[in-house]
Amino acid sequence: MKALLTIALLASAAPALAQSPANWSAPTKPFRIADNLYYVGTEGLTSLLLTTPQGHILIDGAVPSAAKGIEANITALGFKPSDVKILLNSHAHFDHSGGLAQLKTDTGAMLAASGPDKAALESGTYPGSEERRDLDFPPVKVDRVLKDGEKVALGGVVLTAHLTPGHSAGCTTWTFPLKVDGAVRQAVYHCSTSVALNRLVSKDKGPQYPGIVGDYQATFAKLKTIKADVFLAPHAESFKLADKRARLGAQPNPFVDPTELQAAVASSERDFKKALAKQQEAAR
Ligand SMILES: [Zn+2]
Repeated sequence: MKALLTIALLASAAPALAQSPANWSAPTKPFRIADNLYYVGTEGLTSLLLTTPQGHILIDGAVPSAAKGIEANITALGFKPSDVKILLNSHAHFDHSGGLAQLKTDTGAMLAASGPDKAALESGTYPGSEERRDLDFPPVKVDRVLKDGEKVALGGVVLTAHLTPGHSAGCTTWTFPLKVDGAVRQAVYHCSTSVALNRLVSKDKGPQYPGIVGDYQATFAKLKTIKADVFLAPHAESFKLADKRARLGAQPNPFVDPTELQAAVASSERDFKKALAKQQEAAR
């Protein structure tokens, strides 16, 4: 009885954890995707490590509870968390930025993020849904604000920030060259274009943020111009991580698939149009 009561109390105190898929915080063994790119996230949430002789770059921090596991993964690969010099983020939602504050404290790295996501990162809230405390995450200070097309460089590794807003106001898609099977390919870490919890139109509350519908539309158009040989995304299942990982070691590298980004964008755009029509109907 006492145990049951404790579980019930825990569940009500942490609705986000109670509702989050178990694989978001489940640990998984880190591994090399190709060349200097490693997967150090959880089973369900991506965190990418790009190593260089002058220190490392870490993209995304998963949920708050995942930070220590990400650090353990970096160590397990033979690298030092204290050598992480730059932290980057796809978007300021708790399942991808939640661990950043802890990672920043532990590594001493600087955080570079897009201007429109800065306020969300620094307040640890979901803009437009601030009343949803279950979406809060530990706030983290942004040290460098990035504009669309700006580059982040360290030790010969150069990433380009492409602002692809909609899913969040500052959603950032990252591109970088990656050597795979002896050839330089373009890797793309696709921010996300799902509608998820976002209000596109709403009678009472207004949209999630002003201009969100136009942002999604411009983002779909922009993503159609981006070439991706290696498609990566913040949720492991979005780029079939488990399947590709199981096939690693085969030639060609299973992470190379130039069709994947465009297929994901096309299906996401169809979903967006359906969600928009549904929300417009509901707001009538
Ligand atoms: Zn998100």
